[in-house]
Amino acid sequence: MIPRIDEEVCTACGECADACPGQVFAKEAEKVLVACPEECIECGACEDACPTGAVRLVDAG
Ligand code: SF4
Ligand code: SF4
Repeated sequence: MIPRIDEEVCTACGECADACPGQVFAKEAEKVLVACPEECIECGACEDACPTGAVRLVDAG
């Protein structure tokens, strides 16, 4: 599983990146990217932290 961000819903608040124990996300000026999905340990913290439900774990394939 890897995280996927729905950019239609994401507010670029950065909560997912702050909650992630790894370096999966990259915070940019106006959006947050899934920069290193291979580092995801599937802990679910990003989903729990996201205030808008924009980030979800999905099958990597
Ligand atoms: S599930 Fe955990 S490790 Fe994976 S991106 Fe979300 S917070 Fe980071
Ligand atoms: S926590 Fe949710 S709304 Fe905030 S940057 Fe991450 S995906 Fe976007």
